[in-house]
Amino acid sequence: MSFRINIAILTAVSGVMFGCSSTEKVSEEGSTDEQEQGWDSQDGNPTHATHSYMTEYALDQLQGTYPELKTYRDTIVYASNREIHDAALSDATLEQLRKNVGGNNWGCDHPEYVWGYAKYFYAKGDKYSAYWYLGWLMHYVEDAGVPAHAFHVYHQSSPSDWDNLEVQATQRWNPAYGLNKSNPAYSDPSSYVAFSATWATGDFTSTYPGVTYYRTFFSTSPLWASSKEKTFISNRQGRTATAVKWAMQTAMTHWQ
Ligand SMILES: [Zn+2]
Repeated sequence: MSFRINIAILTAVSGVMFGCSSTEKVSEEGSTDEQEQGWDSQDGNPTHATHSYMTEYALDQLQGTYPELKTYRDTIVYASNREIHDAALSDATLEQLRKNVGGNNWGCDHPEYVWGYAKYFYAKGDKYSAYWYLGWLMHYVEDAGVPAHAFHVYHQSSPSDWDNLEVQATQRWNPAYGLNKSNPAYSDPSSYVAFSATWATGDFTSTYPGVTYYRTFFSTSPLWASSKEKTFISNRQGRTATAVKWAMQTAMTHWQ
């Protein structure tokens, strides 16, 4: 989400106090009103965004092997916080990209196009743009790890239609890295978007057999979430960050 989760309400709900914001280059997306939200993204978000945490985890794991990731770290983190979904964007360039990739509520129809752009710019020697697109692709891998996205359950960032798991996750980054999958080692990094979604739906159905996911299934705050819920969300955070690492690693093998 461009952090339009209603901060006042979230603060009231959780007692969380906030205080930072993002500055960046490239282009600022802005939408007319509310945005799809996945994990929380950085714009206007006074907490450290979950998208940032996940991307940073992958970068920390990989940048020793691939020094370019260190060079373009800020760009990748920034781009991984872009919300390019179903809402029209005020930035004309991003809006065109949004249409090109078929942005939708849960992600986009064509993540492979995003990877295509990244490859195109890398081949041209425009590494800044290449890593910007790579970061944007990581956003979709990250979102797909959220059950609402993975199950295509419509949600937005306002209290009337937000996803409770996302609201809860915003308040607590507590990833667990106990994995129940190994790296499928795809050759195309965009394949990890669907992989991440399958991981999320699999985790949900194995943890909550027979339940059809709905937006308000989870609690809105870790303060009153069950330990089962908190464990589920911790696993989703850690496993999704791992999927991001694998996707990023695959991208890097193409560029070495
Ligand atoms: Zn998103």
